[in-house]
Amino acid sequence: MESKFGVIVVGLGPAGLAVCNKLSEKGIKVLGLDRKQEIGTPKRCAEGLGNSWFKRLGLTPNPEWAVQKIEGASLFAPSMESISLKSKGPQGYVLERKMFEKHLAIEAASKGAVLKMKSDVIRAERKNNSVTLAVNEMGEEKTYSAPLVVAADGIDSRIARFLGLETSNKLIDVDSGYQYEMTNIDGYPAENINLFFGNNVAPRGYVWIFPKRKNTANVGIGIGGAEKKTAKEYLDKFIASHPGLAKGSVVEVNAGIIPVGGFLENMVKDNLVVVGDAAHQVDPVHGGGIGIAMEAGYIAANVIAEAVKKGDYSEKFLSQYNKKWYLERGDSLKKRLRVRLLLEKLSDEDFEYLVKSVTVEDVLKISSADMDKKTKLVLFGKKLVQRPGLAKLMLKYLK
Ligand SMILES: Cc1cc2nc3c(=O)[nH]c(=O)nc-3n(C[C@H](O)[C@H](O)[C@H](O)COP(=O)(O)OP(=O)(O)OC[C@H]3O[C@@H](n4cnc5c(N)ncnc54)[C@H](O)[C@@H]3O)c2cc1C
Repeated sequence: MESKFGVIVVGLGPAGLAVCNKLSEKGIKVLGLDRKQEIGTPKRCAEGLGNSWFKRLGLTPNPEWAVQKIEGASLFAPSMESISLKSKGPQGYVLERKMFEKHLAIEAASKGAVLKMKSDVIRAERKNNSVTLAVNEMGEEKTYSAPLVVAADGIDSRIARFLGLETSNKLIDVDSGYQYEMTNIDGYPAENINLFFGNNVAPRGYVWIFPKRKNTANVGIGIGGAEKKTAKEYLDKFIASHPGLAKGSVVEVNAGIIPVGGFLENMVKDNLVVVGDAAHQVDPVHGGGIGIAMEAGYIAANVIAEAVKKGDYSEKFLSQYNKKWYLERGDSLKKRLRVRLLLEKLSDEDFEYLVKSVTVEDVLKISSADMDKKTKLVLFGKKLVQRPGLAKLMLKYLK
């Protein structure tokens, strides 16, 4: 039994690595465990990260892991009618996530964190204000204990449940994702992401093409978790009908589940904090979770550092993390959950109408922080007079 650690982090994805980094920076002895053989692999991700996250998380894009600058996005309705948004500077980057996570891991280890791969946590037990974890470490069972455990174990989250906090998702609250990293494809410029909507294309979701470099891209799909046909079936059909993709080769296959249905209200218990996908901290509109998971990791780490200082690992003390996260991010994501509910209700005709009638200037105005809510509603209202059903839906979900 090893108990020299102040905090044990289970799961070394973006959430867990952010916690390891911040806690080690503050001089706290951290052990990070992951069941994978190699950090960041296999990726379950399209690897897109918006520009604002770099600033917020204190990251400088490094060509080793921020492999493709993105300057625009094209949104396609079912008829393939599209709207394109371009910007002067970068909108974001497509990452090589394996390299990104290794970079985060190297940084955490250099600050003192101890990281172990092929370490699957199979049980957790709370006793006398401490948690003991049973770990299958490269085929050998070991135990580790600490007064606080961080469950950053992603969508399959079991650690919190072992310690009495339910984290599972209902089928209706998840999207099912499937993706090919493809090369030798044509027709999709490297600086632009492409999103394809429609109930026959991707029910309750969309198809994405996120370029990683010239002629290579993550081509994937997210659909509602309760759909009868699989995400793979929809994606294969889409690729077959796009000659620029159909001629390509697949160099990697990825699949994963995305928790888009809302967030855990309570993310703590005595001696336990939950972060990232395990706490369902994902943008419900597009399913992005890298930045949100890392930000939550930083917020959690600040509260944990205080808990360590005071020696108070109670649910009551740790619940400051709930408050701080909801204030910083959760409440605004709740609004985005309503946008998601609206998008789920749109028919293919609604998508067509929106793509044809809303201009790039409208989108820029509507997304601008300078325009007040009322003016935005009036602008939308004018656009939607010919489609009162759609206007009603918008009012219901966006007011
Ligand atoms: C198809 C798809 C596409 C996506 N595309 C994007 C995108 O383009 N941009 C974006 O921002 N987000 C995207 N996401 C979401 C993003 O990948 C997640 O939100 C993000 O990875 C969450 O980070 P995390 O650290 O919480 O969880 P994860 O990255 O899942 O990390 C959890 C870690 O815990 C480990 N683990 C689990 N159980 C145990 C255990 N018992 N013992 C030890 N280790 C354990 C796992 O091995 C894993 O390494 C996508 C998701 C999917 C499925």
